[in-house]
Amino acid sequence: MNAPPRDYEPFWTEAVAQIRSEITEQEYHTWFSSMRYAGADNSQVRLYVPSSFYRDQIAHRYRSKLEESLSELSGQPLRLAFEIRRTNGAATVPTAHTKHLQPPPAATSVTRPDRPPHPQLNIEYRFSRFVEGDSNSFAVNAAAAIAKNPGRTYNPCLIYGGVGLGKTHLLQAIGNKVYQEYRDLRVVYVTVESFTNEFIQSIRDKTGHRFKKRYRLADVLLIDDVQYLQGKTETQQELFHTFNSLYDADKQMVFSSDRPVTELKSLPDRLINRFERGLNIDLQPPDYETRIAILTQKVDENGVSVPSDVIEMICRNIESNVRDLEKALTKLIAYSNLVNRTITLDVASRELREFFATPFNIAVDTIQRVTAEHYGLTLSDLKGKKRTKAIAFPRQLAMYITRDITELSTTEIGQEFGGRDHTTVMHACQRVAERKRTDSSLDPLIAHLIHATTQRSR
Ligand code: ADP
Ligand code: MG
Repeated sequence: MNAPPRDYEPFWTEAVAQIRSEITEQEYHTWFSSMRYAGADNSQVRLYVPSSFYRDQIAHRYRSKLEESLSELSGQPLRLAFEIRRTNGAATVPTAHTKHLQPPPAATSVTRPDRPPHPQLNIEYRFSRFVEGDSNSFAVNAAAAIAKNPGRTYNPCLIYGGVGLGKTHLLQAIGNKVYQEYRDLRVVYVTVESFTNEFIQSIRDKTGHRFKKRYRLADVLLIDDVQYLQGKTETQQELFHTFNSLYDADKQMVFSSDRPVTELKSLPDRLINRFERGLNIDLQPPDYETRIAILTQKVDENGVSVPSDVIEMICRNIESNVRDLEKALTKLIAYSNLVNRTITLDVASRELREFFATPFNIAVDTIQRVTAEHYGLTLSDLKGKKRTKAIAFPRQLAMYITRDITELSTTEIGQEFGGRDHTTVMHACQRVAERKRTDSSLDPLIAHLIHATTQRSR
């Protein structure tokens, strides 16, 4: 009989591959890209995970399955043991299979680029710090392919998507990567705003030749926020010429925009054609799992401890903007440092109120609709002149709720309800308050309507 192998890594790789075929890529990236094989003892396979949150989640979801596979593959019972470690980048943990995996969330100070940072690029915007999920994996993979082979694949490329979804991060990640890997390539990153300003300045200073040279000698040109080209005829023209000269020379260009090309109004067709020529990729808002993974990474990078129920609560409430996720976390960390309190669900819900759909940013319109629907009325009934009992009370109730959960004055509320006088609103609120005292069904009804309204305001 063979002696049991001392290195279980091949089994680990195989066990992971098995699981990967059973779960979504999404799940796989969320949990497995943050894990590293660390070594083995006689009956234990040790794994590095970046935080206790990951440890608990991974153990909960995959421990038994992984242990089963490992035991089966190795022919002996094996258990998993997790070690929390912020690795010094992928290199310090030797693994044979890292090519499948992204480096784990790295602490900001550990990556030591061998080249001083590029002057126009933020070194924080690297691929390793960009969490991949279904919503962005096309964009991430295209960007990575571009960085690997600039000018050869997907040229030009336009990444479009809403605010705070990672366009700038991806553009700069391409830049950082190329800058580190290909020392003889000139990487130029610029926002359309700076491009425009420099262009105008160069005309003023009569240094147009320098300006042109700077951009036309780029090997990789990254232009951020091309939606701001709208209405800037001269700059559009300059960019058009830059584009042609780089395109003819097979130089890589990557653009970002907050909307698809077809919605870039008032750009000349010839420029639109140029953008459309290459690959256009849509960056979608991250789904819940990806938001959890992003926020967990940010928590780890900040070296703070945030309970997982708080992370989940934030990710449930902030759905469409990664920058807002970051801002919420920053606020929470600042708060807990300043008042020296641990972050609990209570603290978080209170401190982050402004980020969530709260009664304070609810549209009166929503209150009116919800109330009208509850009573089987139309919106115009509710706001109209009829004063039958079947309409008058719901109207008063809607006014009362508006007064209760928004910051509008009685005058403003009157305006919203078909231009009524503020005394009418005051009267309505009094009537409802009186009736609440005698009618015990009213409180739960009001709570229900408020709840329905906030749900719909998300
Ligand atoms: P955009 O340019 O699309 O408005 P940014 O690239 O500025 O968005 O991203 C906003 C913030 O969110 C940045 O700090 C960025 O690092 C972060 N971010 C966005 N998407 C991700 C992601 N998938 N993983 C990690 N961080 C992200
Ligand atoms: Mg941006």
